[in-house]
Amino acid sequence: MGAMATLIDIGNARERPRHPEKQARPESEILRKPAWIRVKAPMSKGYQETRAIVRAKNLTTVCEEAACPNIGECWEQNHATMMIMGDTCTRACAFCNVKTGLPGALDPEEPRHVGEAVAEMGLSHVVITSVDRDDLTDGGAKHFADVVLAIRQSAPQTTIEILTPDFLRKDGAAEIVIDSKPDVFNHNLETVPRLYLSIRPGARYFHSLRLLERVKERDPQMFTKSGIMVGLGETREEVMQIMDDMRVAGVDFITIGQYLQPTRKHAPIDRFVHPDEFKAYETMARAKGFLMVSSAPLTRSSHHAGEDFARLKAARNKKIGNA
Ligand code: SF4
Repeated sequence: MGAMATLIDIGNARERPRHPEKQARPESEILRKPAWIRVKAPMSKGYQETRAIVRAKNLTTVCEEAACPNIGECWEQNHATMMIMGDTCTRACAFCNVKTGLPGALDPEEPRHVGEAVAEMGLSHVVITSVDRDDLTDGGAKHFADVVLAIRQSAPQTTIEILTPDFLRKDGAAEIVIDSKPDVFNHNLETVPRLYLSIRPGARYFHSLRLLERVKERDPQMFTKSGIMVGLGETREEVMQIMDDMRVAGVDFITIGQYLQPTRKHAPIDRFVHPDEFKAYETMARAKGFLMVSSAPLTRSSHHAGEDFARLKAARNKKIGNA
């Protein structure tokens, strides 16, 4: 099929179902993607090199686990998002392709390994995310903080962006992570509050929003970022409301991308949002005062994160200069 490829489904080859809790769900047909969603096949030399490092260091990446459509482009540029605390998530969000179940024990060597890998890869900016670890008393907060500190030690020039779980019912956990002082704290709201029960049943909209607000309260200098997927059945008015909610919580950077259905057992796509509508969302978000906006069909929280971080800093400096 030439240079075009669709989503990579890495789930079918494995023996145990990746999502046991979704087996009883009705199947829904996966819609054919419009032209603007098609992406390049991951085959370049750069892609192969990143893949070799990921394998050699035994790293788990959300690029692969979430079957991200941008993997060809990102890995070609040596940009991969590492997923810590294992490859098994304790939540079962209806949109997510990450494996679910009861995870194993944390690897105490992981912070050191991640720090070394970041240094060896010579990354100027790194994005670290994790599965949800509701099974741990602190939700994995201490481990998350240890990873940030280990990267600071091994690669002091690298700026660090974290994309965290919500730490629901884990008192004091968010503070531990904030105090490790990443450069960017990202937590995705994912969708509008009306759809939480069906799309993100284990989470609570206002808890997630409040988490972002707490980051700013505790460290006003830290950049905050949050994203939503569209095409799940949300209305334009609801998207405008979520933007206002984020601004009230002081969020600096919003990302808006098209939801893609990983398998027939996942939440169905309501519609493919046209690129012009993404542009309109971008204009709206800029008018509402976000320092940075990324709104396009293939926008993902970690897509172009390095360049975006530089632009984010420049935008803040400009704003302060103009104040
Ligand atoms: S957009 Fe993020 S998750 Fe997707 S391939 Fe790029 S770095 Fe990985």
